[in-house]
Amino acid sequence: MLAVLILAALGFQGKIKMVKIISSPKSWEYNAPGHPESPQRVKDSYNYLKSKGYEITEAVSCSDEDVLRVHTKQLLREVKSEDFVDADTPALPGIYKYALLSAGAAIQASESAINGQTAFSLMRPPGHHAESGTLGGFCYFNNIAIAIKYLFSKKLVKKVAILDVDCHHGNGTEEIFYGDKNVLFTSIHQSPLYPGTGLTSKENCKNFPIAPGTDEGEYLKTLGTVLSEIKKFGPDIITISAGFDTYIKDPITNIKLTKDSYKKIGTAAKSLGIARFAVLEGGYSPDLPECIRNFIEGME
Ligand SMILES: [Zn+2]
Repeated sequence: MLAVLILAALGFQGKIKMVKIISSPKSWEYNAPGHPESPQRVKDSYNYLKSKGYEITEAVSCSDEDVLRVHTKQLLREVKSEDFVDADTPALPGIYKYALLSAGAAIQASESAINGQTAFSLMRPPGHHAESGTLGGFCYFNNIAIAIKYLFSKKLVKKVAILDVDCHHGNGTEEIFYGDKNVLFTSIHQSPLYPGTGLTSKENCKNFPIAPGTDEGEYLKTLGTVLSEIKKFGPDIITISAGFDTYIKDPITNIKLTKDSYKKIGTAAKSLGIARFAVLEGGYSPDLPECIRNFIEGME
């Protein structure tokens, strides 16, 4: 009987510790054939996490008001009316609805983190290349920025740190928060690579470009430097733009992280002992589900 009670207690504890996953099968509905940012990425990750016992909370759309804390009315109008031309970021039918859902999930993740449960938004489209007035790089609305501005608007936080570990520079997030004393933006990204920005640091935006071919050892050293900057800043919350295109088998980039590296990244983020949530950005290899799971395990 005692053993049963102990096991039950352990099981209960295990559950409490689990990262909250927010996602929706609706995000698999849109597709541009041949595009690396495919529905399969999120679908496979969703099914894989579910098979590993993760409960998945259904994503809820955010409002235009949430979007407009970050983006211009013109960009909102363009996405809503599907009236724009960008080769990488196509005007697909219903994309406005999917972009609202992805940003809404980021808000849910931020609220969960504030309430003490680390969270991961497993959604598409990604967001970190979307600037206040310009979409691009597979991104329509900047999900992480929308979540951060939401937290500020509800006075739930005073200082926010952004850790962007996608292989590409988070130019959109940088543009949105540049000069904001209450936000520290940090990014580790391959250079040279799209979008070609983030070569130097300026004010509250600290950039850490890394060379093609960078391996785990070098990467984690850089991450250590970034985390000490974040610690110095003293944020109420760490928000992570979690891209997995730094993976060695990623088809569009050249960094050499392994599946196991993501557990170390998640653990390092957790080690600061500050509330945290992450949103999915890039990651285009078929091993994405395992990379994500390792990262989540590190964070929990
Ligand atoms: Zn990327």
